[in-house]
Amino acid sequence: MKLVRYGNPGKEKPGLIDANGVLRDLSAVIKDIGPDQLSDAGLAKLAKLKTDKLPAVKGKPRMGCPVNGVRKFIAIGLNYADHAAESNLPIPKEPIVFMKATSCIQGPNDPVMLPKGSKKSDWEVELGVVIGKQARYVSQKDALSHVAGYCTIDDVSEREFQIERGGTWDKGKGCDTFGPIGPWLVTRDEVPNPQKLDMWLDVNGKRMQTGNTKTMIFSVAKIISYVSQFMTLEPGDVITTGTPPGVGMGMKPDAIYLKKGDVVTLGIEGLGEQRQEVVAFKL
Ligand code: ZN
Repeated sequence: MKLVRYGNPGKEKPGLIDANGVLRDLSAVIKDIGPDQLSDAGLAKLAKLKTDKLPAVKGKPRMGCPVNGVRKFIAIGLNYADHAAESNLPIPKEPIVFMKATSCIQGPNDPVMLPKGSKKSDWEVELGVVIGKQARYVSQKDALSHVAGYCTIDDVSEREFQIERGGTWDKGKGCDTFGPIGPWLVTRDEVPNPQKLDMWLDVNGKRMQTGNTKTMIFSVAKIISYVSQFMTLEPGDVITTGTPPGVGMGMKPDAIYLKKGDVVTLGIEGLGEQRQEVVAFKL
């Protein structure tokens, strides 16, 4: 299933995209798509619905983040060997874990706002993993059974805040609008192997990132198992799993960063596409 949340910010309704690509409303079936709806039992109930009986939604409403009530937004750094190289950083021996503020989460096509004083805002297409069942000290073998589904994420990053301002990366990762998620939450039954998905990102129509999740250093199963040794993963938690090469910071001869008016488009095979216009800072 492709689950969505559509409508104005803060007022999104639950829905799904049917086999013909039609958006159908789920409001009469569930209150929302969030931690309480993501268990295997909850998703199985939705999978049994006769989708052609659900009301079709007219027009092209805004898409929100397909999961409401995200409590943790966890990110993995330098998870593709060639991206570590372009960042002039060694290949990590263990996954690099950092947090994106949940306040940065937004819909897949909402504008990305340059933070106040930003000179080095950058893009990162990433495979997102949404947890469906609590995970504590899970084995790698059992890890994927804790996944509700997968989604496309742009891990927008301010490199000066991230790297040149001291301490952890978090300062450059959680600015408002830096977490576009969606358009769909694709349930895990439709993604039998998360380690062979093509991914791409364009800026103003020019291809910047081309990758495939098969070149991850640490697999999705490894990441879930690893993170669950340090914190409990709860239903609705989102993990963004790192980016392939082609970020602005790594461009030769000179880095390229986002400026007002740029348009970023990105997608992952089977998980849908995003489009963000870059806008100036405003309080
Ligand atoms: Zn990232």
